[in-house]
Amino acid sequence: MTPQDFSGMRITVAGLGVSGVPAARALAGLGATVTVVNGSDGERQRAEAAELEALGVTVRLGDGDTLPEGTELVVTTPGWKPTSPLFRAAEQAGVPVWGDVELAWRLRRPDAPPWLAVTGTNGKTTTVRMLAAILEAEGLRTAAVGNIGVPLVDVVLSDEPYDVLAVELSSYQLHWAPSVRPHSATVLNLAPDHLDWHGSMAAYAADKGRIYEGNTVACVYNAADGATEDLVRRADVEEGCRAIGFTLGTPGPSQLGVVEGILVDRAFVANRQQQAQELAEVADITPAAPHNIANALAAAALARAFGVRPTAVRDGLRAFHPDAHRIQHIADIGGVAYVDDSKATNTHAAEASLAAYEHIVWIAGGLAKGATFDELVRKSAARLRGVVLIGADRALIREALARHAPDVPVADLDRTDTGAMPEAVREAARLAEPGDTVLLAPACASMDMFVNYTKRGDAFADAVRELTAPDH
Ligand code: ADP
Repeated sequence: MTPQDFSGMRITVAGLGVSGVPAARALAGLGATVTVVNGSDGERQRAEAAELEALGVTVRLGDGDTLPEGTELVVTTPGWKPTSPLFRAAEQAGVPVWGDVELAWRLRRPDAPPWLAVTGTNGKTTTVRMLAAILEAEGLRTAAVGNIGVPLVDVVLSDEPYDVLAVELSSYQLHWAPSVRPHSATVLNLAPDHLDWHGSMAAYAADKGRIYEGNTVACVYNAADGATEDLVRRADVEEGCRAIGFTLGTPGPSQLGVVEGILVDRAFVANRQQQAQELAEVADITPAAPHNIANALAAAALARAFGVRPTAVRDGLRAFHPDAHRIQHIADIGGVAYVDDSKATNTHAAEASLAAYEHIVWIAGGLAKGATFDELVRKSAARLRGVVLIGADRALIREALARHAPDVPVADLDRTDTGAMPEAVREAARLAEPGDTVLLAPACASMDMFVNYTKRGDAFADAVRELTAPDH
């Protein structure tokens, strides 16, 4: 399909927001007759509707279930569940449903830049940013786009002359993107998340695995996570496309790994039986926590698959600095480090950040989203100096601690108000000894107490600064 083919087409966009508004705007710009449907009808939706209506788009607020008469194509935003009545109606009417990423893929121009794509339960944003930094260090025109907050529809229609794109894709987006064919792609890891949306772990994995479909050069998997390698095996790829592993250990042939503090490539070298190419030092990565070294290896693998030189991998990793609230060092007070990993909103992420420190006072709790905490606590128990619990579902963590770490002191703050954070930080400071790390890695979503994880992290940082304020 060319962009011209959308002219006059009757298209329903399911949902407003960060991907619905750009999709509707783009389609209206191509001459389509666009109706946006959205279940909720609040102040924000009305403002977005007004913006779109000015472009000739029809917006129907308060009813997201009924398929508008005459619809020829539905374009959905990622949040909508596959079981939504609108999609059932579309199926019954024989109307195709595309996600915003599928739409972007179909709108690409013939000379469009290839996509290096990243998905996984955790580490997507970090890896995509690392990848973009490496590609930039190579002198390539690139951008970190997709689920990272930059709508792909806008990117593919822009006049920016990109050489290659570093694309973050969520499992939701992949579910609705059947024809996307990246140059190379990675699934960083797979742990239960968003199962209410996908219906089962198998369905979640299958959606993630779509990222490997039609890859031309490399399917990059995590050698420590067999499920990601299984997805590569199941993928239908282009002739000659290789499976490339990354490992925190010594790499085998066709792998990238770590040898004595050096990131090493045994995949994109002339003779992979005998040769290994040094890429960078672990010390070039910020922070040099194990999970983040894994992210760096995945980014390096995708960049190397695109032909990037080893020196650019090193320079890109040196230039990269993580976004806020991702293992962000806030302060050292009295020999205790205070670290904000508010973005650790599930147990898999929290496990990775707890593994990065020796002695930890852990601030945890919030909305559990159906998670269980036994495995996380069991694996981390030996590192815990103490635990401070906040938030609605803190009892779940407290019970897991009682089972697997009964000797670790726990301060259970019976609070879910925003003001709990200063008290949590003061409690943590009391439990910590010099050399310890006070780590906010809640393993839970934040919405019981805060607007989002950013605000939770900010509250933590403010509370840490208060510790050093003159009146304390
Ligand atoms: P995503 O975009 O997938 O949410 P981010 O890069 O924003 O991932 O990181 C989210 C959180 O996940 C981080 O704060 C960190 O705790 C954790 N994390 C990052 N990379 C990994 C990884 N490779 N494995 C496990 N956890 C990770």
